[in-house]
Amino acid sequence: MMEIERIPCRTDNYVWLVHEPASGAVAVVDPADAEPVEARLATRGLRLTHILNTHHHGDHVGGNLALKARWKCTIVGPRADAARIPGIDVEVGDGDTYVLGKASAKVFDVPGHTRGHIAYWFSGAGALFCGDTLFALGCGRLFEGTPAQMWHSLGKLRALPDETQVYCAHEYTQSNARFAVSLEPGHAALGARAREIDAARARGEATVPSALGLEKRTNPFLRADDPALAAAMGMEGAAPEAVFAAVRAAKDRF
Ligand SMILES: [Zn+2]
Repeated sequence: MMEIERIPCRTDNYVWLVHEPASGAVAVVDPADAEPVEARLATRGLRLTHILNTHHHGDHVGGNLALKARWKCTIVGPRADAARIPGIDVEVGDGDTYVLGKASAKVFDVPGHTRGHIAYWFSGAGALFCGDTLFALGCGRLFEGTPAQMWHSLGKLRALPDETQVYCAHEYTQSNARFAVSLEPGHAALGARAREIDAARARGEATVPSALGLEKRTNPFLRADDPALAAAMGMEGAAPEAVFAAVRAAKDRF
């Protein structure tokens, strides 16, 4: 069994601590900063063995070098962007399997937010670490990729089982929900989810992870090929890539 803990960082980042007790492997996914990770390791009495990076942004790799200096941990990151991952030891890419103790993750190339973005899917644990590609009710901004690229990347993640838990890297859910509801005010399941999110945030609770099946039903960025969303965008019959591009552009202006 893999244990996964949330380490809140900066204003809205989530660093994920992954503990595989059978082997003693302890990884953090996308350490924005070293200090909150060190604090959690100390509290839990754990020794860091690995860092898994999804992409090069500073709020995902900012803790790499300090953590590596302290723990001599192995840093795993995207082959396609290795030059921008501080301290990288192991480069992985689409279709690779990375073994972490007695668990293993399938790696997907998911360009769009950045050109070298990857995601890690631990099928045994049903856990997807997708960085800034897929968010709860949202997706990452397209800094280095095209809408068509991002739609294709999200399609790889959408193909995973419904029960997969989506461990994204930011608490953006409430603003994402407001945007999604603005597109489809009559979408009942989305409306119900938005109310649950508001209630959770009002209680100070995190909304991540979320179930992939729920994302498939309610996240507009996974539904660009749903005729109902195309109709809501006034784009009946348009190609999914075009609907996706319009939704992403609308979110950028929202
Ligand atoms: Zn990013």
